[in-house]
Amino acid sequence: MKIYLNGDLVAKEDAKISVFDHGLLYGDGVFEGIRLYNGCVFKLEEHLERLEYSAKAILLDLPLKREQFKKAVCDTCLANDLQNGYVRLVVTRGPGHLGLTPDGCGPGNVIIIADDIQLYPEELYKNGLKIISVPTRRINASALPPAIKSLNYLNNILAKIEAKKVGYQEALMLNDKGEIAECTGDNVFIISKGVIFTPPLDAGSLRGITRGAVIDLAEELGFPCREQALTRYDLWTADECFLTGTAAEVIPCVEVDHREVGNGVPGAMTQQLIDLFRQKVLTDGEHLTQ
Ligand code: PMP
Repeated sequence: MKIYLNGDLVAKEDAKISVFDHGLLYGDGVFEGIRLYNGCVFKLEEHLERLEYSAKAILLDLPLKREQFKKAVCDTCLANDLQNGYVRLVVTRGPGHLGLTPDGCGPGNVIIIADDIQLYPEELYKNGLKIISVPTRRINASALPPAIKSLNYLNNILAKIEAKKVGYQEALMLNDKGEIAECTGDNVFIISKGVIFTPPLDAGSLRGITRGAVIDLAEELGFPCREQALTRYDLWTADECFLTGTAAEVIPCVEVDHREVGNGVPGAMTQQLIDLFRQKVLTDGEHLTQ
């Protein structure tokens, strides 16, 4: 496997960075997870825009411009002969001193890993996922805006561990008002009486690229879709529920907090969204170019 590291494609064993990198010492950096389907990168512009916004929000100067990132992503996929997979693009603050201040850090490391991925087994896409709400709340936007896709994922990792400890694969995270924020790596949607609802971004969710794609697909299918604050009660009493994320794609959810969603099987509208999403990813991506 070849890893992109600061302009070079190096063997996995040689892809090394300093232990003084603040990405490692403090989670100081940003990242993106991007999908490649049949040799086409899905929503590359949107991912790079979000990377730029995340970097701007943490006052990190990105070492590459948008077109250079695009080329680096393509080069990494081509060097690995990858037609389908997952691309992890990381930009760290770079090596610095042991103190918190980023003064003197840099240059930032740009790392791109392109590999296979299957987050959940296919069976769960057919039968649906079961999720549970956990005690760890989504970090407050005034402490650290959840819209920033930073390298510091401890908040989500704690939630994930709590869910796993009680036998669930994914955790439902609430914000400090007790509203639904998102899952640890996915946005949440429900369907009630034919209307699709998802929490607004200020409830504490990432501006998911898949979330955006699904909102567009809902419009295409003529399904009404609204951003609205949601409670656990709304999820418990919904007719359908599904999660969206680059790695998870669109996955039905059939149980929330031990309550069956609808009649406990993936819903018909969710299935239509999944089918259309799976078509779009094959036709809407940007071709890998040299
Ligand atoms: N929320 C969080 C916390 C995430 O890390 C992610 C990405 N895995 C998402 C939502 C989904 O975003 P996207 O559709 O852009 O992958």
